[in-house]
Amino acid sequence: MLNTVNATASAAKYLKRAVRSRCMELSLQAFPELKLFITGPTYLSERVKRAALLPEFGHRDSENERRLRVVLKNLGEIMQLPGNCRVMLLPGTGSTAMEASIRSLVRDDERVLCVSVGAFGDLYANIARRNKPNVDIIRFPDGSAIDESRLAAGLEEKEYAAVTITHNETSTGVINRVGRLGKIVRDHGALPLIDGVSILGGASGEIKEGQSATYVGSTQKCLALPAGFGIAAVSDDALEKAEQVEKRGLTTDLLLHAEKAGKFQTLTTPNTALVNQLYVQTEYIVKDEGVETRFARHRRLRDITLQWLAGLPEGFSLFPGKENSSPSLTCIRVPESLDRKALKEKMREQGYLFDPGYGKISTPTIRIGHMGDITEEMLKEYLETLGEAFS
Ligand SMILES: *Cc1c(COP(=O)(O)O)cnc(C)c1O
Repeated sequence: MLNTVNATASAAKYLKRAVRSRCMELSLQAFPELKLFITGPTYLSERVKRAALLPEFGHRDSENERRLRVVLKNLGEIMQLPGNCRVMLLPGTGSTAMEASIRSLVRDDERVLCVSVGAFGDLYANIARRNKPNVDIIRFPDGSAIDESRLAAGLEEKEYAAVTITHNETSTGVINRVGRLGKIVRDHGALPLIDGVSILGGASGEIKEGQSATYVGSTQKCLALPAGFGIAAVSDDALEKAEQVEKRGLTTDLLLHAEKAGKFQTLTTPNTALVNQLYVQTEYIVKDEGVETRFARHRRLRDITLQWLAGLPEGFSLFPGKENSSPSLTCIRVPESLDRKALKEKMREQGYLFDPGYGKISTPTIRIGHMGDITEEMLKEYLETLGEAFS
């Protein structure tokens, strides 16, 4: 058993020491503190920063299990996992988990369909093409959501083993109805592979309704942690399918990851500071804030942003349709004349990191990241400052 009194005393000492070193003092002076309102990585709360100071540990030791047993259970609650799915942590990032889904679940003699509404849907298609020979893409214009009948028509044309879908398209602020889309994919006998990277922890992944084969995320978006893990929920039938796929790679083999997750471990060495942070943060989300409360807060942050947008002068408008606007970020069409680079520097002077829009979209846009642990007060302050910076 841990001696709590000693543990508390040593934690306090640890925190003091951490800020007292000379290198730390100099580094604190060197790097300005910016409040991140970009779309990931996100602002880190004091709670998360301090969690990185918890004791390091060995990843094949019992101390690892004491943490990961809780983390995986909490992630299951946050992802509202149905009984036929299990969750695993892949050292790497969201892209690692996306690549693992393709490598593990599609044979070389099968086809993948990648449905894209923007840059991150294109990323999934790019990953698929780099790993598998037969990849088709349905690309909807930037700003639109996936059209269900167009998807169904695509699935009628050819036989597909798997279909990649972006839940929340971060380049355009569009959220897709993955519950309904996944069902359409399943009705055509294919596996839905869902990229939920910029929404996991901020809204329901609709994994049960969409019968997702894989639903992947990462730590540095709505979970408000530093980057360092891909998170994957994988269904039992997906794991069965993986057994028929040759050459799944090593770090991209979901069967190997599943085996380790079954022992509350990771396949390769995890970032142990991040495991400590995941422990504290997922405990906070599940037991203190509450999963549904967190989702509701994300919806409120969107509503606050849309209300603010309605008061802006002509030339500023919501880029996606209102019904498809994401609860984790808002993408805004801005006048051509707006100097977004200068605006970014102006906001930096105010202590903020501003997002001047995704580089490759032809329409001039800006994005407001309102994901993770950002509070209503923080967002209102930010929007007020930004509104002033426009003029
Ligand atoms: C950020 C992002 C990714 C890439 O995730 P990494 O963790 O950087 O690999 C993929 N898809 C979406 C929708 C994203 O927002």
